[in-house]
Amino acid sequence: MGLRALGEALHEWKPARVAAVDPIAVIRAAWSEIVGENIAANSRPADIERDTLVVVTRSNAWSQQLSFLSENIIAAFAAREVQPKIVRLRFRVGKIMLSAAKRVVQTQKHAGNSGAVGDGDSPRVPAATAEEAMARFREDVEAFWRAKRAAGWKECSQCGALIVPSTRSLCSTCAHAQAGEREGTVARLLYEVPWLGYEGVAKLVAGLTRAEYDGIRHRLLKRWWETLRRARHAGRLSRDGHERLIASSYVLLKSGIAPEQIAPATVRNLLGEELHDLIYQQPAN
Ligand SMILES: [Zn+2]
Repeated sequence: MGLRALGEALHEWKPARVAAVDPIAVIRAAWSEIVGENIAANSRPADIERDTLVVVTRSNAWSQQLSFLSENIIAAFAAREVQPKIVRLRFRVGKIMLSAAKRVVQTQKHAGNSGAVGDGDSPRVPAATAEEAMARFREDVEAFWRAKRAAGWKECSQCGALIVPSTRSLCSTCAHAQAGEREGTVARLLYEVPWLGYEGVAKLVAGLTRAEYDGIRHRLLKRWWETLRRARHAGRLSRDGHERLIASSYVLLKSGIAPEQIAPATVRNLLGEELHDLIYQQPAN
């Protein structure tokens, strides 16, 4: 079957992609996961200018410390496939809005918490040298990670972001991306080799659960049927006749029978007389 027909057929049912999401919103959502809560409380991704992310920080000291992390942050964006691709960060001192989480950090600070990781408006006594600032910052980050790991947090197996204690091995961003990718792969397989069934598809798509397969199959059948119903209602096929391809995938997926074994009566039965005649008796042009 032609690629064009496949693309068009998939277009019939495909859910709206997340491409329309504002990249700065994606970055903001992942920010504390990437830099940790304390740094996130003292900085804010503000804007994207071409390939540069502008980060507002609470003070020059925070800008300086955060700049040491630039490489890791850019790598984390790349792992999350943030578009447009960010290649550098720029820092600007400005106002950071206080959220509830940040207020907690501040409260701890005022309560005399000497905190292992960044403690509020500016980091302790300013470091005398860049080397000292960097060493301190590394210690802070390591202490933060040690504490998280001790509390059962672990790294996302894909991008390395810390995730809350659970049985999951991926952060929410990676899990979401992977599920979307898996759905696309499964849908293509069900279109091209609809009779594989769950066992057959699961051998080809790592991590696919029965429930996920059933959901995709159900949505696909529903969309395809909608397309076929429209053709029947109109009493004709579209110009490229892609309903023929959809009809055969529909019948095979619905019945789970391989094409060489399916009986003409079964096809007629599943499509109904009217649709069957429309699809198989109208000469292709
Ligand atoms: Zn991840």
